[in-house]
Amino acid sequence: MWHSKSQEEVLKELQIDPAVGLSEEEVRARLEQHGPNKLKGKPKKSMIALFLAQLKDMLIYVLLGAAVVTLIVGEYVDAIIILAVVLLNALIGVFQEHKAEKAIEALQQMTTPKSLVRRQGEVKEINSEDIVPGDIVILDAGRYIPADLRLLESANLQIEESALTGESVPSDKDADSLHEDPKTPIGDMSNMAFMSTLVTYGRGEGIAVATGMNTEMGKIATILDEDIHDLTPLQKKLEELGKTLGFIAIGICVLIFVIGLIQKRDIFELFLTAISLAVAAIPEGLPAIVAIVLALGVTRMSRINAIVKKLPAVETLGSVNIICSDKTGTLTQNKMTVVKYYTATPLGDEPPVELIKSFVLCSDATHENGESTGDPTEVALVIYGEQNNIMKKSLEAEYKRVSEKPFDSDRKLMSTLNKTRTGYRVHTKGAIDQLLNISTSAIVGGEVVPLTKELKQQYLKAAEGMSDDALRVLGAAFKDTEQLLSPDEMEQDLTILGFVGMIDPPRLEVKDSIREAKSAGITAVMITGDHRNTAVAIAKELGIADSIGQSMTGAEIDELSDEVFAQKIKNIRVFARVSPEHKVKIVKAYKAQGNTVSMTGDGVNDAPSLKNADIGVAMGITGTDVSKGASDMILTDDNFTTIVHAIREGRNIYSNIRKTVTFLLSCNFGEVVAILASILFFWPLPLLATQILWVNLVTDTLPAIALGVDPGEKDVMKRKPRDPKESFFAGGAAFRAILGGVLIGSLTLVAFYLGLREHGFSLNSANISEEAMTYARTMAFVVLAASQLFYSFSKRSDTKSIFQVGLFSNKLLVGAVIAGLVLQFASISIPFLAAAFKVHNLSLVDWGVVIGLALIPLIINEVIKMFIRMGRGTLIR
Ligand code: ATP
Repeated sequence: MWHSKSQEEVLKELQIDPAVGLSEEEVRARLEQHGPNKLKGKPKKSMIALFLAQLKDMLIYVLLGAAVVTLIVGEYVDAIIILAVVLLNALIGVFQEHKAEKAIEALQQMTTPKSLVRRQGEVKEINSEDIVPGDIVILDAGRYIPADLRLLESANLQIEESALTGESVPSDKDADSLHEDPKTPIGDMSNMAFMSTLVTYGRGEGIAVATGMNTEMGKIATILDEDIHDLTPLQKKLEELGKTLGFIAIGICVLIFVIGLIQKRDIFELFLTAISLAVAAIPEGLPAIVAIVLALGVTRMSRINAIVKKLPAVETLGSVNIICSDKTGTLTQNKMTVVKYYTATPLGDEPPVELIKSFVLCSDATHENGESTGDPTEVALVIYGEQNNIMKKSLEAEYKRVSEKPFDSDRKLMSTLNKTRTGYRVHTKGAIDQLLNISTSAIVGGEVVPLTKELKQQYLKAAEGMSDDALRVLGAAFKDTEQLLSPDEMEQDLTILGFVGMIDPPRLEVKDSIREAKSAGITAVMITGDHRNTAVAIAKELGIADSIGQSMTGAEIDELSDEVFAQKIKNIRVFARVSPEHKVKIVKAYKAQGNTVSMTGDGVNDAPSLKNADIGVAMGITGTDVSKGASDMILTDDNFTTIVHAIREGRNIYSNIRKTVTFLLSCNFGEVVAILASILFFWPLPLLATQILWVNLVTDTLPAIALGVDPGEKDVMKRKPRDPKESFFAGGAAFRAILGGVLIGSLTLVAFYLGLREHGFSLNSANISEEAMTYARTMAFVVLAASQLFYSFSKRSDTKSIFQVGLFSNKLLVGAVIAGLVLQFASISIPFLAAAFKVHNLSLVDWGVVIGLALIPLIINEVIKMFIRMGRGTLIR
């Protein structure tokens, strides 16, 4: 057992030198032998399983039942059509679901965790999946442990192992401990770290001893399943709506059947029509169509660097009106460079050697062969050292680090304890105001002098001067001791050495995004641990704030009660020197005012604020695994601009879902209107069961999906954010969906009437000839299909005309409509299909008539839009 072996034994057994790690050949060989480091997922559903799942639907059972009845009465052709439609529909369903699954799988792939390993003497970041036994893995706070490790080094290392042991209090780890008892419980193995547990504090190094299914996690084989398959609030609402409409539809069908019986209509025909109508009217496909629209939407978003982890986030994105963003790395480039330093006595051209040494020794970052790892602030310090001939590697070899107190964003400090010739030296670096609080002396003219009030003021003034120039200020202090200090004893009675100022240029594209957000009714707010003046200077540059009056510090927040804070928050654009707890308070205050808030975060302590926000956004590059886990969305480029783009996409996706759903409802309603009216008015049925099925399940589906991936209107970011409480059918959408349905249904009846009249009959004639009936039904059939297809063009915008939107700007829709028309044409002109559907080819004149009729719902909707535009005074745009 690894926990009962000494480090030397483990290293010997796995044949590793921890300072070098594995070579690439060894990695390949071990990968071959042990396989990739991943837990086996649930087996994927096969195509056949997907197909069979499609058939497990009440409506399909009904249709299959209907097919059986048609077979019994000898209507074989009808039976074949019903079966063919069921099959086709299931195939479309399989295709959709497959595509949706693929999209989600691809997203999960993109968020695979990464780990730091040492291979061939260099530290690099690799996919955790590629770790093999023997790899030297480097651990820091916020990372998930990628495999089972025997620890080789631990500095205040604490690991939260609840995933494995259920214990949520982090356990202290000690690489040097040894557990002789082979039966030591997992929770007590302080020299081991296990896959899927989480480093909450400190640093460490370990050697991978088990990977993949051989790990403790693999043994209990609980697969961490993301809840990406959860239904979104909208999907749930639509499912409810679908159910209600379904019941109404069934009621209507029963009604039609009963009235038809009283009217002594042909029972078999009535039965099939009622069933087909039920299939047509019950919007059972809505959640499925919404799922595919969402899946295609999130795929599109991943291409613009926003990975949506939870589907409901897509909807919420559309109503975000406050974006709280970290400064460093999200609004700025996170390319830090030291440009200035300050010491109490000017050194002229001499570099501040002691200051640099403290900075370099108190950093975990590396910079080797032009490649760096670690926090960019520290990378900047290490490079600053190199520029002044102070090399981290040799310095560390001379002054070995023996203990440390890691950085955390609450203290805004970090300390290390390094060996010296005579004893030990504490090196502390961090925010200058914090450093001044824990220091009692300073270096002036090479001498240690007491830190007087005046001296403090002098430091603060110089630091503010740098901050005003948008520089990030970081100070360093030290103290010498003879004994080995505990981490808690390090940060007191220090001697200030001085500080440096670093530039971190703003991201160029962010300025435009902030302007775009403003015009979309969204306020951008900067939240940073950095100094107020630095933050405000950058905020001004980016157009987030105009003056220092719009800023507030963490200390000021602490002084305000929740109520007063919530009132003040409206005018604040920059929160500086805040810690992660303040972020939670800020999110809550915004939410209390009825805002929909997105909040970014990257650190270990950011998880609560990310969870509290409506949209928690984690950083893909610099973010810790914890923050990614707690987030709803991950930015693969850490860029603020991506948040704004994602909001734009979110708005588009929501409005596309609206287009699709209202389109389908209009179509279904049209079919109900045509049949119900003909029954109520004692007319012959204008459509046959097979025809209804065909239009509803074949010609409708393609334009509905095409509307779901509409490129989106150009002015989505000129509108105010959607009120999350607003009904899905707000703004007259329900009325227009009903009107569309009434028009489609009535025109179908008109076409039917015209067809009869051409043959000398009317709707109320007795003994209508077979020939006339077939012809009239053909006209109704074509109008029903074509009017829906044309109408889909009009659904692309609620206000803009089809020409303003661009007739050909959604190529998929154009293709879907053409395909629908071709299918429709084929169904009545290819002899065997025509015979099957009991239709007839039309004369040229009648083609003109049906096309004319079919265009009317489109035209009327366009006229309504024109009135709306006139009302708004935006006719010409
Ligand atoms: P943001 O919150 O926008 O990302 P930030 O990076 O400045 O900004 P933190 O990482 O919380 O926020 O840092 C807060 C302060 O802590 C910094 O202004 C700096 O003074 C100090 N600091 C940052 N990184 C380190 C570090 N590695 N070691 C010591 N002190 C640090």
